[in-house]
Amino acid sequence: MSIFASISQAPADPILGLVSRFKADPAKKKVNLSVGAYRTEEGKPWILPSVAEAEKMVVNDTTQDKEYQPIDGKPEYKRPVQELIFNGDIIDSGCIATVQALSGTGSLQCIAQFLKFMGVTKVWCPNPTWGNHPKIFQRALLECDTYPYWHQEKRGLDFDGMMAGIEKMKEGECILLHAVAHNPTGVDPTPDQWQKIVAACKARKLIPLLDNAYQGYASGELAKDGYSQQLFTQSGMEFFIAQSFAKNFGLYGERIGYIHVRCASKDAADAVLSQMKIIVRQAYSSPPQHGAAIVNKVLTTPALKEMWLKELTFMSNRIIDMRVALRKAIEAKGTPGTWNHVTDQIGMFTFTGLSKDQVMRMVEEFHIYMTGDGRISMAGLNPGNVEYVADSIDKAVR
Ligand code: PMP
Repeated sequence: MSIFASISQAPADPILGLVSRFKADPAKKKVNLSVGAYRTEEGKPWILPSVAEAEKMVVNDTTQDKEYQPIDGKPEYKRPVQELIFNGDIIDSGCIATVQALSGTGSLQCIAQFLKFMGVTKVWCPNPTWGNHPKIFQRALLECDTYPYWHQEKRGLDFDGMMAGIEKMKEGECILLHAVAHNPTGVDPTPDQWQKIVAACKARKLIPLLDNAYQGYASGELAKDGYSQQLFTQSGMEFFIAQSFAKNFGLYGERIGYIHVRCASKDAADAVLSQMKIIVRQAYSSPPQHGAAIVNKVLTTPALKEMWLKELTFMSNRIIDMRVALRKAIEAKGTPGTWNHVTDQIGMFTFTGLSKDQVMRMVEEFHIYMTGDGRISMAGLNPGNVEYVADSIDKAVR
């Protein structure tokens, strides 16, 4: 009798489980729109040329060794990644505690533990949100609740519902916001709406946590996609950021990201950093260095940084082109419903509005893999499969 006899089989991850099913599917015509990873026009993963160049330089750098990195990552790597979000004055003030972490998920994990440590009891997530969010907070023994975000009839942001939700939150509670390119809906507040959100968070003395997984990926411009972070910084509030470089550097498997905590003073930032280091030390001791070295090389080599910025625009434009192509193909068929949301939404995903049953048909009958909530990754579309996807959506909704 095994000591594990009482351990039952866990369900497959809702997203990564679909990837495995897609790989195992023998159908000739199949499309994977489940996972949020960039694909080329040929449907292949893409190593950004700037990243490939930087990696060569890193590997050939004989001054690099394989010693442990500091618990919070190399100090000289911090400023270039802070500069993607904050201006020079605030960085110089020392009010930002920065810690290298295991991509966006690892950053959120440490922040969740920190919130618990500082006595926060509740985290509010948008409804819907990335499926891992509530799990991460619950694992840190935080209560997790939702505020309205998606308006099904409008197929857009339920701004009034969101503001009413914020009014219900209590001082000292944490509100999770997607900094840009909301996953899964692809719907972000407008600049004017962001200003109202920031003001409401400040008035209610909430603790904002900005999940920054797609900066530069939505519009192709870092500054434009960094707008919400800039507003929170200008507001003078203290807040957390989980910064991922999985999507915008295409470094998914390198697990590279950073935690930033904007504090009211340098003393507060020093104390926060010291405690965050304890969380990291106990969880995994110190972070991996390869991805961090690549990001640093790209950001500190002017020619590579210029290349990277162009690659960001290229990737986001390809996705926008696919939005236009998919909408055009669906509308050409006279498919019931409105389809403007396909081009209105931004970032990696489209929240199609397909029902659970319709999604089931897409997967079972047409071998088009997408999440149960109707989300499709636009990066998985290309000129070779967009017509087939449009045709299948047409059949599924009729
Ligand atoms: N936050 C959001 C909203 C995401 O969509 C993702 C990736 N799907 C992440 C965080 C975490 O990504 P990673 O851990 O790969 O950086």
